[in-house]
Amino acid sequence: MLPREVIENTAKQILDFNGSGLSLAEISHRAKDFQPVVDEAEALVKELLAVPEGYSVIFLGGGASLEFCMVPYNFLIKKAAYLNTGTWAKKAMKEAKLFGEVVEVASSADANYTFIPKGWEVPADVDYLHITSNNTIYGTEMRKDLDVPVRLIADMSSDIFSRPVDVAKYDCIYAGAQKNLSMAGVTIVILKNDALGRAPRPIPTMLDYRTHVEKGSMFNTPPVVPIYTALENLRWIKAQGGVEAMDKLALQRAEMLYGEIDRNKLFKGTVAEEDRSVMNICFVMNEEYAELEKPFFEFATAKGMVGIKGHRSVGGFRASCYNAQTIEGVQALIDAMQEFEKNN
Ligand SMILES: *Cc1c(COP(=O)(O)O)cnc(C)c1O
Repeated sequence: MLPREVIENTAKQILDFNGSGLSLAEISHRAKDFQPVVDEAEALVKELLAVPEGYSVIFLGGGASLEFCMVPYNFLIKKAAYLNTGTWAKKAMKEAKLFGEVVEVASSADANYTFIPKGWEVPADVDYLHITSNNTIYGTEMRKDLDVPVRLIADMSSDIFSRPVDVAKYDCIYAGAQKNLSMAGVTIVILKNDALGRAPRPIPTMLDYRTHVEKGSMFNTPPVVPIYTALENLRWIKAQGGVEAMDKLALQRAEMLYGEIDRNKLFKGTVAEEDRSVMNICFVMNEEYAELEKPFFEFATAKGMVGIKGHRSVGGFRASCYNAQTIEGVQALIDAMQEFEKNN
């Protein structure tokens, strides 16, 4: 979900970019008015996340899935550690294995990823530890930045800009923008400059982070429209009070909805309470009401709820509460849950 004004402002620029008579979809990325878009987007990412000196922010194509490959290509020398917290973590591990040894420090796969493993240790000799901060499909989240004795890399595709992040703890943070920043087509990557260039292998130009850092995301044609939409959304986040305000809102939405899931006799949450995601709130019918799953889906859909079907690997329901989701939107779902409970 994106704020309405972000969509509207993008639509205006698609019709007429900065009064040029050309569409944002027609201009060259070398057009003089486009460089300021990239510059401002980069500056806003740095400002909103308080990115320290010595880091670069780049915008790439290929989605978070391409980063599963670019991360080990650029950072894996011999051995890397991965925390296996879900489908996306597993996919990241699969790519890393093409480049070296992969140590799975812990996994909750046997429990269908219903919790974040605790009490694990990272081998001291790994090149980095890779984590997935929010598990979009299973609805678990690590909302604190870890303290680990090795370099840290995070896939923040579904919770970036939802809370303040201590960027200094990371060598690399990446996020496919389509969950919580922009439309599909752009990936944001935050890199610690002095972590680059250590991998011993030749790296194809397009897959080498240094190419894009050196050329300021303009080595080749970047995804122009999605970067523009990201810029509009970054402006919106700033106007709302920044990531601190997003954090507060996220916690408020989550408290409301989990409160109702726990209270309502028909429903129950799917993951360990302490690991509950505030971004993707997953719930199922209580066993004795299992046959009401389809009727509730139809009831809620008729009430205007969109996209609440859970991922097939969890079933039930998933209420994705990204930054633009309003308290009223969450309340509407709660109202539907309460009305359905009364009817049943
Ligand atoms: C959606 C998602 C991905 C995959 O993103 P693409 O941009 O489609 O490649 C990776 N990681 C997480 C956490 C996601 O939610």
